[in-house]
Order: sequence, then C-alpha cells, then structure tokens
Amino acid sequence: PSNTPALAPLDASKLEIKESKNKKALQENSQLVFGKTFTDNMLTVEWEAGKGWGTPQIKEYGKLQLDPSAVVFHYAFECFEGMKAYKDKDGKTRLFRPDMNMKRFNRSAQRIALPSFEDEELTKLISEFLKVDDRWIPKGRGYSLYLRPTMIGTQESLGVGASNKAMIFVIASPVGPYFPSGFAAVNLLATSEKVRAWPGGTGDAKVGGNYAPCIKPQLDANKEGYQQNLWLFGPDHQVTEVGTMNCFVFWKNEKGERELVTPELDGSILPGVTRDSILSLTRSWGEFKVSERKFTMKDLVKADKEGRIIEMFGAGTACIVCPIKKIHYDGHDIHVPLDPSDKTSQAGKLTKRINDSIMDIQYGDVEGPKGWSV
Ligand code: PMP
Repeated sequence: PSNTPALAPLDASKLEIKESKNKKALQENSQLVFGKTFTDNMLTVEWEAGKGWGTPQIKEYGKLQLDPSAVVFHYAFECFEGMKAYKDKDGKTRLFRPDMNMKRFNRSAQRIALPSFEDEELTKLISEFLKVDDRWIPKGRGYSLYLRPTMIGTQESLGVGASNKAMIFVIASPVGPYFPSGFAAVNLLATSEKVRAWPGGTGDAKVGGNYAPCIKPQLDANKEGYQQNLWLFGPDHQVTEVGTMNCFVFWKNEKGERELVTPELDGSILPGVTRDSILSLTRSWGEFKVSERKFTMKDLVKADKEGRIIEMFGAGTACIVCPIKKIHYDGHDIHVPLDPSDKTSQAGKLTKRINDSIMDIQYGDVEGPKGWSV
C-alpha cells in the first residue's frame, strides 16, 4: 500500500565510527588460539520492522545488552558467517570471495525469518571495520583475521513468531595456521544414529541451531579417540559432511576413472565457499573427473576393499583442507592413504596441492579467478 514507508536499506555511507580509545596489547603470532582474542572494535547495525536498517556503527568491542526475553535466547534466531581477512606481501588487506559469504548470510537469515540486507553494503562496512582494526590483522602465510558476522533476533517477547527487531554484529579474532606444524590427518567416527541435517531442515543454512546438537556426538567420538564425526544420513548411510567441513573423496570410481567427488547440494549440505572454490579450481585443471553427487558408506567400503580410495579430506574456511586418514564404520576401520611416495606425510598430494593453490590466491601470491581475492 502507498502509505507504507519504504524500509531503510542497509547503507554503508551512514557509518558512524566511535573507535575504542583502549588499544589492547597484540599477541605474538605464536600465541594465537582460534577465537579467543578479539580486536579493539566491533561493527553493529540494528533493524526494526516497519523501519528497516539503522545507522551502522563501529565502536569499542564489548558486551551487548539484551533483554532476557529476546527471541535469540529462546528460539535460536541466530545465523552467522565465517570468513577471513589476509595481509598480502604488499601489506594490503584481502578478503576471499566475500560475496559468497554475504549471499549465504542473507539466505541463512531468510530461512529463520530474519531480515535481508544489501550484501555489498555489508562487505563495504566490513572493509571499513578492517581499516579501523588494521593492526590486528596478523602478517604471514597461514595467519589471518577471522571475521564472524552474526545476525540475531532481538524482539523482547516469548511469543513464537518472526522477530520485529534484529541486529547484525561483526567481531574479529586474529588466528594462526590451523595446522601450525604441518598437516595432521584426522580419524573419523562414522555416525548414523545422530544426524546433522535432514531433507527440508536447515542443513544448508549457517544457523546456530545446527551446531549445538552436534557437540555431544563429537564429544562421544573424541572419547573413543576420533577427532570428528563423519555425518551420515538415511538408511543407506549417505556420506554428508565431516565435523563442520564439507567432505571430499578422491578415488578411482567403479568405472575406473579418477574422480574427485563431494555430496551434491541437496538442501542438507552447507554450501561451503571452500567447497565451491575446490570444485571450480579442480574443474579448471581438467585432470580428472569432478562430481557433485550422492555416495554412501557402502560405496566407500567397496572402494576401500578394492584399493580404489586415493585421498579424502574435509574442506572449510578454518583449515582450507583437513586430510583424513581413518574412518571407523560398522566395527571396521577404513584406512585412507595419505601420500604413498612420502611415508612421513600427513596429507595426500592432491590435498596439499588444493591447499597451496587456494592459499596462494588468498594471500594474493597468485592471481585467482576474477573476484576471488579482493
Ligand atoms: N559445513 C559446515 C557444517 C560448516 O559449518 C562449514 C563452515 N562454515 C563448512 C561446511 C565449510 O564452509 P566454508 O568453506 O564456507 O567455510
């Protein structure tokens, strides 16, 4: 109706900066622990139904004040992103495919009835935030500033419904290499009695509600000596994801072709930025078949028996790739080869090559596809 005022879009030009006067001490690169230290400032912007987005602010990192009835605490109105800022050799700051994170952030928000936003504006705001907290971006290959854009529903009400208030905040944490002393391949427990995601659920959205229920199964796996769960789904035990990473298998398929395969995006797989980047890169190499399709534990067990598994790895922003060396399934171990030409190696040749190729682009050492390193 014509009497409804247009909702204010998210507008980076309205940014207000009230930088923290308190400059915290930086940690040595070697002391960095993932997600424990935060920069001096944070970015926030609030939204209200009927009004739209308010004034984005960069201000001192600190506690949020929320009413205990805020819907985020009761019905998990929360979604988030994970991305990194890198310093290149010229001291410039780079983001890796931020457009993909912003699109996924918007899709996640919409899945839980939180407001959408202009994704290029949020990228601009994040860039301004990075300028303000520039001294926090650690230098050196493997080092980066991890960014955590988050959206929460803040309506003060126990009524179960869409939140009429929301907030985006972005916090940042300096991080070191996921594998500080070279790759460390992981052991997985194939898990089918608990599932991470299901058809029609929220597995393809990065909502907080997906994560807490996965911790108990992870602790159970840890107790038995496995670092991560290999999440299965369905009576045929389809392979879905590894911990909080997408799953890749490099094998000789039943037709005898060398193939890199990852589960297709069927609604229960998180569409990883790393996943997409690996698919694009390896397709551009044109050296083997690259597929997005379903595969099951039965396929994997058969491939193992026939000696067709070449490598396996998880993929995500935190590690880029995480080599897998063993999977416990149905009372048996599947031993995944690492690098047969190097007994000391903790990662297969393809796994390493993918890692290095993506890192080269992230740090601007190699010009990647247009728009990847910005
Ligand atoms: N799967 C899940 C469940 C995740 O939480 C993540 C991390 N965001 C990924 C996969 C990998 O996604 P990305 O490559 O975008 O980090």
